[in-house]
This record gives sequence, structure tokens and C-alpha cells, in this order.
Amino acid sequence: MAIAGSDRRSENADVLIIGAGASGSVAAKHLSDNGFKVVCLDQGPWVDNKEFAGARPEWELMAQKRWHPNPNVRDLENDYPVDVTESDVNPLMYNAVGGSTILWAAHWQRFMPSDFRVKTLDGVADDWPFTYEELEPFYEQAEEEMGVSGLAGDPAFPPTKPLPTPPLPIGKIGMKAAEGMNKLGWHWWPGPNAMPSKPYRGRNACVRRGTCLTGCPEGAKASMDLVYWPSAIKNGAKMITGARVKEILVNDKGLATGAVYIDRAGRERTQKAGIVIVCANGIGTPRLLLLSTSKRFPNGLANSTGLVGKRLMMHPYAAVAGVFDEPLESWLGPAGQTIQSMQFYETDKSRGFVRGAKWQVMPSGGPLGLRAAYGGRALEEAWGVNLHRNTKRVFGHAFEWGIIAEDLPEESNRVVLDPTLTDSDGIPAPKLIYKNSENTRKLIDFHLARAQEAMKAAGAVSMTTTPLMRDCGWHLMGTARMGEDPGTSVVDPYGKAHDVPNLFVYDGSNFVTSSGFNPTGTICAIALRCVKHLIANRRDQEIAA
Ligand SMILES: Cc1cc2nc3c(=O)[nH]c(=O)nc-3n(C[C@H](O)[C@H](O)[C@H](O)COP(=O)(O)OP(=O)(O)OC[C@H]3O[C@@H](n4cnc5c(N)ncnc54)[C@H](O)[C@@H]3O)c2cc1C
Ligand code: SF4
Repeated sequence: MAIAGSDRRSENADVLIIGAGASGSVAAKHLSDNGFKVVCLDQGPWVDNKEFAGARPEWELMAQKRWHPNPNVRDLENDYPVDVTESDVNPLMYNAVGGSTILWAAHWQRFMPSDFRVKTLDGVADDWPFTYEELEPFYEQAEEEMGVSGLAGDPAFPPTKPLPTPPLPIGKIGMKAAEGMNKLGWHWWPGPNAMPSKPYRGRNACVRRGTCLTGCPEGAKASMDLVYWPSAIKNGAKMITGARVKEILVNDKGLATGAVYIDRAGRERTQKAGIVIVCANGIGTPRLLLLSTSKRFPNGLANSTGLVGKRLMMHPYAAVAGVFDEPLESWLGPAGQTIQSMQFYETDKSRGFVRGAKWQVMPSGGPLGLRAAYGGRALEEAWGVNLHRNTKRVFGHAFEWGIIAEDLPEESNRVVLDPTLTDSDGIPAPKLIYKNSENTRKLIDFHLARAQEAMKAAGAVSMTTTPLMRDCGWHLMGTARMGEDPGTSVVDPYGKAHDVPNLFVYDGSNFVTSSGFNPTGTICAIALRCVKHLIANRRDQEIAA
């Protein structure tokens, strides 16, 4: 356990934040800017960007274990296991200061206005309790804080202000993919990324190493340890690392009073606070709420509806990888997106399913990434002389159209506590029960067929199609959904638990639907909206004494 900031452990914090990832970091920065005494507990450590392997020859080997995004593979002290025996998809995350943004690809997306109104438009799921227009100023502010690069004016979206830094080059792969889209008359646009294209507020410019998914050795990518924590700590916020929370405490008035955590020496400790904000992600948050049972809350905290853990959405991911005769320098980053397409984003009921997907062009990585590409090749193709021949042919000559399928919320897709599996502290691990629906399968089939057409139009000489990537649970949403009605939602439109007036959920658990977009831009914008509301209404906010 390490403490950054003055040691106020024994003191009551004004606000306790559990989880130092995307949402927790936004909250800590803005609360501490406004004079709140903030303590944050995270089970992971600080990560030094010198540890990242992206600038070293062995980086792809390191991605197989130490920097693997699946916590079950990585299996570090700061990770917890997740039972996936009943899940179509493996969840991906990182547990440290910065949370999953340590490994994220930093595709920075806003949702579309239609994403907030799917019930009205398509008769499925639910509408959000606010609109795109209401969230827009918070998107703008988050983009400015993160130093997003990109080109404003994408006709698929409502008009926006210029982004804080100019777009990164789309490279030869972006140009090639765009060639195919132009032939078909389909939409494409340079993708926005949370990687500054020039030095930005103490961060370096992205130099396109393409190794973002194992951490950015350049200190360019917007990970929250770099973007928010330096100023939060300067403001007096305290970060306690190596602190695994096992339970949120409540008093006899039903208010949250703090949390019990286990430090890395195995000692049980208590942190008290007037307000508790849970930011442990779409799996960690329902796990913690379900663990926090008491006489008053026998089914877990904030769970009078029984909805905590339910409606898990993880964005099934499908891809078409194309190989081209000409060299495309396709190891170059960003390993965010070069171009994107919203050609088939909105519902067209004649296709036999509702909603759609965002497409993104991504580089194909180095030789090992290629060998493993999408389910792996037959052993005889991936070994010895064949490996050399295939690598020579494909390396630098390939890219992928990735498809982020909108996942509809279903109560049967859920996070529960595992009856036997525990983490290294003996705390019950989460178990995922998650199956793709018929709508999702039809959606993916349609989009894969179109992506193959796009690859063909671009001139691909061969293609590999991945109908569902198993390791694709990057986006964890929906397990403590927001809404106005306490009978059908866990938290209100500002993240406050209906059942516990000083308990909040700011991470992607609070999503009503998933959209077909990478969610972190929206997680940050919602966290910002929620925390600003809390700050503005601090005098009326109930707190634990
Ligand atoms: C490989 C990868 C690539 C991704 N690429 C993109 C992308 O390109 N674009 C995009 O929009 N999104 C991407 N994501 C998703 C993005 O990283 C997440 O949406 C975002 O980080 C979620 O923020 P959060 O605050 O909900 O949780 P997280 O960032 O996951 O942080 C949660 C924190 O809570 C802590 N925690 C959990 N439980 C406990 C506990 N019991 N006690 C103490 N601490 C606890 C964890 O240690 C962790 O630090 C990617 C994710 C991964 C893993
Ligand atoms: S591509 Fe840019 S942001 Fe990604 S790891 Fe390289 S320098 Fe960092």
C-alpha cells in the first residue's frame, strides 16, 4: 500500500472515491478543485511509463502475459479473477491508478443523438433520462481536458467545435480503406483519438508507435494517471493504492459511511467519508454493491429493484482483416483508429434487426499480433517456414475493419457473485453470465458482409473474418443503470443511488444503453455532468455524519 498526498486515513473524507480509472479520476479532479477533501482507494499501484514495453523489441511478447488486457491471463496481485465459464466474451480491464485507460486504445467517441432515444425511435430498451444536447457541453470540456486529436465536421454527427489538437495522419492504411469506401460511396471520416498530435499540457505528442494497447511509453496517450491525478493530488486529494475494497459501510439511517478495504499486507482498514462514489467499472461496481449486504440491504446496496449486476453490455466485436499487395506500413499507430465509418450505424428495419455499429480501421500490429490474428491460424501455417513466409507476406500489408456492435440491455446478461471463486484476499469474485442475442448475431452477420465488400473494394487480395472476438470485453456497461424511476433503475440521472442518498455510481455501470461507440468519452462526460451537479448542490446533499 502506498499513499500519495498527506495521510488523512484516520480522518473523515468529504468524499471517498472507489476506483481511480476514467470516471473516478474525473470526479477526484473536479471535487478537489472545488475544495472537497477527497480520498481515493484503488486496488492497483501507480504505473511508471518506463515499465511499458512499447518502445522495446519484446513488446509483443510482453503483451501475451504482463500487459495482457484480460485479468484472468495477467493474474497480477492487483487483479481479481472473473468467472467466464458462462460468458461468450472475456472482460478486459486494467487495475491501477488510471484504471483501464492504462491499456485503452483511446478511440474517443461521442454518442449520436439517436443513442439517447432508442425506445422512442426503435421500440427497444429505454430512452436515457437526458439528451445528447444536454450532454454536449460536458463532452466538449472532457475533450479539452484529455487533449483529443481529430477533425471536426464529420457529417454523421451534429456540428462540433474544433478539437483541441489537429488530427493524426490516417496513414497508408487509412488512405487504402478510404479508397474502398469512396468507390462504394460510403461514409468515412478521420477518427478522433485521445492522443494529442502535439505536446499538450505536459504530455508529449503521439509519435505513432502503435503500441497503445500495452501502455504508451511516450507519455502521450490520455491515461488518467497523467491527465487528472497530478492536479488532483496537488489540490490535496489522497490516493491510497493497493487498497482492495471489500464492502461499503452504511449506518442505521441507511447512509453510506465509508468502506472497508484490505491493504497489500493483508490488513483490514476502514476509510470513513460523508459521501461515497463508486467508480470500479461495469464489473467491479456491481460486485462491490452485491458484496455490501446488511440487515437493511440484504440483497446488496442500492439493489431494491434487483437490477444491480443485470443488463451487462460489452459490445461484441467482429472484424474483417484484409491483406494487400502493396506495403501499407500497417504497424504504425495510432492503435486507436485511423478512419471510422457510420454508414450502417442507424436502424434500418428492412435488415431484420435494430440498431447498428461503428466501424474503425486499425493497424494490424507486429508479427506476433498477426500470427495470433483473430482466433489464430492453423498450427502448420503458424510455425517454422510457413510462419516466415506468412509473416513476410502479411506484415505491414494488412489492416482491419473492426465492428463495434450495439449490445441491447438484457436482464439475463449479468454479473453475479461467484459461489466458489475468490480473489487473493478471499473476497468472492464476479461471474459473468452473458450470451449474444439473436439481434446481435443478425447485426454482426450484416455488418461483416458489408465490411468484406469494403475490403474488396479497397483491393484486398485475401481476407480473414472474425465473427466474434472472444477477448473483446473492453467496454463494461449497464449493471447499475440510471433513470428517473426508482422502480426501474438503480441510480438517478446524476448517478445518485435511489436507495442510498449519499452513494453515487459514476462509471459505465450507469449506462442505459450501450450505443455502438467506444464508451469512455461518454463515461467521462457523464461523470463530469454528475460531479458538477454534486458540487453545485453540495449544500442540499445529505452526508453521513
Ligand atoms: C485494452 C483496452 C482497450 C480499450 N480501448 C478503448 C477505446 O479505444 N475507447 C474507449 O472508449 N474505451 C476503451 N476501453 C475501455 C475504457 O478503458 C473503459 O471504458 C474506462 O477505462 C472505464 O472507466 P471506469 O472508470 O468505468 O473504470 P476503469 O477505468 O476500469 O477503472 C476502475 C478502477 O477501479 C478499481 N477497482 C475495482 N474494484 C475495486 C475494489 N474492490 N477496490 C479497489 N479498487 C477497485 C480498479 O483497480 C480500476 O483501477 C478499453 C479498455 C481496455 C481494457
Ligand atoms: S501510438 Fe501514440 S499514443 Fe499510442 S503508444 Fe504510440 S505514441 Fe503512445
